[in-house]
Amino acid sequence: MSQNSSESAFTKLTQIIQSAAKANTIEAQVQHIVEAISETLLVDVCSLYLRQPDDSLRLVASRGLIRNHPVVIPSKQGLVGQVMQQQNTINIKDPDQHPGYFYVANSEEEQFHSFCGVPLVYRAQVNGVLVAQSRRAELLPSDHVALFSTLATHLAMLIATYSKDLFVSPSEAKLYQGISGAQGVALGKAFIRKESGLAEIQKLKTDDVGTEQTRWVSLKAEAMNELREERDTVCSTLGEGLASVLDAYQMLLKDATFEQRIMDEVAQGYQLPWAIRQAVSFFSDKFKEMDDPYLRARHEDIEQLGAKLYQIWQRTSEPQAPAGNEPLILVGDQISVSDIVNLATDRLAGIVCFGGGSLSHIAVFANALGIPAVMGLGEVSVQNSEQVVVDGDAGQVICSPAKSALREYKRIISERQTLANRLQADSQLPAVTKDNVRVTLLANSGLQADVLPGLRFGAEGIGLFRTEVPFMVRSSLPSEDDQEKIYRSLISHYKDKPIYFRTLDIGADKPLSYLPLVKEENPALGWRGIRYILDNQPLLITQLRAFMKAAAGSRHVHLMLPMIASTEQLDQCLAILNEVHHQLVAEGVQVCRPKVGIMVEVPSCIALLPFWRDKLDFISIGTNDLSQYLLALDRNSPLVGKWYDSLHPAVIHELLRISTMAKQMNLPVSVCGEMASDPVAVILLLGMGIQQLSMSAAKIPLIKWILRSITREQAGELLAEALQQDNASAIRQLGQQFLASKQLLFNETTPK
Ligand code: PEP
Ligand code: MG
Repeated sequence: MSQNSSESAFTKLTQIIQSAAKANTIEAQVQHIVEAISETLLVDVCSLYLRQPDDSLRLVASRGLIRNHPVVIPSKQGLVGQVMQQQNTINIKDPDQHPGYFYVANSEEEQFHSFCGVPLVYRAQVNGVLVAQSRRAELLPSDHVALFSTLATHLAMLIATYSKDLFVSPSEAKLYQGISGAQGVALGKAFIRKESGLAEIQKLKTDDVGTEQTRWVSLKAEAMNELREERDTVCSTLGEGLASVLDAYQMLLKDATFEQRIMDEVAQGYQLPWAIRQAVSFFSDKFKEMDDPYLRARHEDIEQLGAKLYQIWQRTSEPQAPAGNEPLILVGDQISVSDIVNLATDRLAGIVCFGGGSLSHIAVFANALGIPAVMGLGEVSVQNSEQVVVDGDAGQVICSPAKSALREYKRIISERQTLANRLQADSQLPAVTKDNVRVTLLANSGLQADVLPGLRFGAEGIGLFRTEVPFMVRSSLPSEDDQEKIYRSLISHYKDKPIYFRTLDIGADKPLSYLPLVKEENPALGWRGIRYILDNQPLLITQLRAFMKAAAGSRHVHLMLPMIASTEQLDQCLAILNEVHHQLVAEGVQVCRPKVGIMVEVPSCIALLPFWRDKLDFISIGTNDLSQYLLALDRNSPLVGKWYDSLHPAVIHELLRISTMAKQMNLPVSVCGEMASDPVAVILLLGMGIQQLSMSAAKIPLIKWILRSITREQAGELLAEALQQDNASAIRQLGQQFLASKQLLFNETTPK
């Protein structure tokens, strides 16, 4: 680059900056700059990505890219990541053919066929990447590349000097990448889930080691006082002999190695309860290893001391739900359905779960309630009441977001609300495609709390009532009467609308704390669903009695059996159902045998369907488990979550096989797994001729909007194309291109 052109670039940039300076905020200034650069270079897109503390790149301004949610390119990913890593310009045609290509979801980037990225380097530090893209499949001419690089050099300096606000300061914000559990974006105060004992303490990190050290000093003093008082009481009532037994606790508490162990954990950045838990388990294990039986038994003392410390800590610092009516983000290692139920749902805005995956039941519930959730984050540093953003679309969580990110998220939340209101206006219209194909949209339910929202969102019935949920939120089995009341109440709300009750599906990730479940190596392949129930038949008999009594006189109530994998299992269930029916009739109760179907979710049942034509009234495909078993991927594991995609060709081909079979058998078929609310999947399912979908109620308006905007024929064409693909991403990309061509990109696009 010659001195002259560098100067003219500088002059150009000075002009751009002078006019940008008129904008009020730094964001607006940077936006102005990228717009001016794209005009100068005659390109369709100019985008600025800034490096974040974890080396990911955040899109802070763009002319040309659709940017309706924060775009963060993970470290070392994509062409943009390569530019940063190599500190070198990449100027290519057809970027989507490049092995390093990273598609920014819903950005409509696919329409651009050239890419030129230059690093922003200032004082040997790459602080971002500037990208130009064009619709034409042509390289950016070399003189334009030179001008672009020079502009980037000046911009790098400008940003480093004046635009600190655009960077997320590492000490301020903490960004964590997990897996999306339920889509949507939420902002609120962290409410860390209550733990009941030492064993449940969560592995939380802290940035404020000093505060944890001070907490330890006062906790230790308080514990020492209590131990002395207890000793005095025992001494005065039971005598010195017994009181001296309590000395052991005080001695342990004074022990320097115990204290040091706690301080070491704190120094590594862990919060005090976790540090205590670790120190207790370390010394307890040490005692247990000792040969001397007296010393071996001392592990109990250290565990009791740990419990006492934790009790005092809870008393003095137990997180209460932050006061006021600000939205709350429920945070925890494992979150249970009861955690959700115990919180006023009008304040619950989001869920952050350190473990779990996209199809953990907690994610399924979050979807049902329309609450954004991120799962499988691993270790997170968060304090009670800290401000947290849950980005369920990107699977990200930001604790203490920087001001600029906060503004951006607030804008997105308000835009989405406008879209939701818009969709809600059509909620009572039927889901009919443009070529008049009627699709029935039902809601998945389980909590009584989601019955009314379901109706409000326009559910035409309940396609899956997870009867295990009322069992999970109790501390003992509900009686026959209790169950009858629950089922009756649901039927009364949905009057003449269809309801599909699924019999208890417990086990694996849905244990019931009060029922004996055996610890298994592979619980998802083990004693769960119908397998557990057939070994514990009184549970099924009570449930069927309650169900038939509640359903008496309602013609639209169906019974659905989960996890059926063999003819023997199906026959056994049907025999029990007939027996219960006879029993009730013999008791003089007016009941009729309900319509019965199965969930198609264990692959082995697919080949058996033709044999069962006379036994079944319908089938409903549980795509969550069906995908889990077809792909051999644990739906709860964050480790393999990235591979789990129900758009995998193996799943799509199998769904086509099932729906074709059902058509030939004249057997009604529906889908009730999460696929029924995935816009791309829904089009493919329509293409297969599936006309009944059951989903999280909050998704109904969006799916209805999509269905009302397309034709069955178009869906069939997309399916034909999808069947030619050999990977899930290609299928998703095809689907998103189709949605984009119809201006139907969900979440991001306002309906026209
Ligand atoms: C499924 O497996 O797809 C399903 C709907 O059931 P659950 O998610 O409750 O296992
Ligand atoms: Mg299932």
